[in-house]
Amino acid sequence: MHRLTLTSARQGLKEKKFSALELLQSCYQRIDAVEDKVGAFVHQNREQAMSQAREADQKIAGGEDLPLLGLPIAVKDNICVAGDLTTCASKILQSFESPYNATVVQRLKNAGAVILGKTNMDEFAMGSSTEASAVHPTRNPWDLERVPGGSSGGSAAAVAAEECLAALGSDTGGSIRQPANFCGVTGLKPTYGRVSRFGLVAFASSLDQIGPMTKTAEDAALLMNVIGGKDPQDSTSADVALPDFVSTLAGDVKGKKIGIPREYFAEGLDTEVDSIVQNAIRTLESLGMETVEISLPHTRYAVATYYILACAEASTNLSRYDGVRYGHRSSESTSLVDMYENTREEGFGEEVKRRIILGTFVLSSGYYDAYYLKGQQVRTLIKQDFENAFQQCDVIVAPNAPIPAFKLGEKSQDPLQMYLSDIYTISINLAGIPSISIPAGLTQAGLPVGVQIMGRHFDEAGVLNVSHRFQMETDHHKKFPSL
Ligand code: GLN
Repeated sequence: MHRLTLTSARQGLKEKKFSALELLQSCYQRIDAVEDKVGAFVHQNREQAMSQAREADQKIAGGEDLPLLGLPIAVKDNICVAGDLTTCASKILQSFESPYNATVVQRLKNAGAVILGKTNMDEFAMGSSTEASAVHPTRNPWDLERVPGGSSGGSAAAVAAEECLAALGSDTGGSIRQPANFCGVTGLKPTYGRVSRFGLVAFASSLDQIGPMTKTAEDAALLMNVIGGKDPQDSTSADVALPDFVSTLAGDVKGKKIGIPREYFAEGLDTEVDSIVQNAIRTLESLGMETVEISLPHTRYAVATYYILACAEASTNLSRYDGVRYGHRSSESTSLVDMYENTREEGFGEEVKRRIILGTFVLSSGYYDAYYLKGQQVRTLIKQDFENAFQQCDVIVAPNAPIPAFKLGEKSQDPLQMYLSDIYTISINLAGIPSISIPAGLTQAGLPVGVQIMGRHFDEAGVLNVSHRFQMETDHHKKFPSL
């Protein structure tokens, strides 16, 4: 049962082929069998999940029909689930129990979903490999010597290892798409503002978005129907009508235009990744889509711009962890200032400290204009690149990362190498547009590679439509690693 998609499990539950409790237990058996190798989860509240599953079974028996009734879903550990820990895989929050549900979690629960566990991540979502978790690294289920990507590496690995049917992740600069790409699953970063961030622990507030990580585009649509839409608790959530994403999945894509950005197929792109993405483009052409070469000329400034802005916002957001109101507090201190310093010294990992220092620097007087302000200006240019491109095409297709999943330890000692690997995902966050990664094939060595499909602001429906049509033609998304 743990091998099912959300859509097929929903059907099975309706037809009473199995119960929600049996479905959940199947996932837990799978977790017990493979979690030693993969390490996708940081904690599980099985008692709570089982009682949610029993409740779902009662509702099913009573003839209730909710969109996610009885379906087990994992949640990244930077998203609050009431009564559960929300650690962000950081020592500073290791005992933080969330007093409320994030809006997305509340919406999942209202739709009948069962929250089966919290997934591992790079500390505070800062990273691209899940090695920066203070708990343990997660391993790629396709090759345990390799990283699952990050920062939502736990969610991606959990779906790929079939420990859950679907998961939520968050994406500030690629953290849903890049791990989905490395683990061979589907991961959608919605338009900035499409999904409420209330109850998501803030990293870089002008970039953060929550999104679904699933086995199919169809399941992503199902989840988007539930988690999307305006939320009075999040002033940055957009008041834009939420379409029914499932109903438009199968629409014809004939005549739609695919933009191929020149800058994304340049030096540094692995040849196998290149050819897998090119094959995916051929498949889309066979569906009647047309290709047009486009240019996103400011791409080469994206990494620098992102790391200036994201670090600036992070340094501000993370100033709240001072040991006073919640989280870890150092017991070593003799004065208040001492307490702040020791708490932060003990609580934050190396990468988080690096970013707080970088962010504080770019915001400091004398440097603000040269870095932060300049970064904001370049961000506008990057956004305009996409606006211009979308005059010529309906979607943009590109790789997610220059290389397939790398080995554990390969980049973790060299932050610059790690940052550079985000080149194909971060512009999308700077522009705020929606983008998905869907499985597109395996390398010779058996590592999954995805293709990235970007859309206009609030056109998740278009992105999901193209993805679903692709998945109707191919079976890359049906392949799972043998563990
Ligand atoms: N890898 C990027 C970073 O380290 C993106 C992370 C994310 O999207 N949360 O910041």
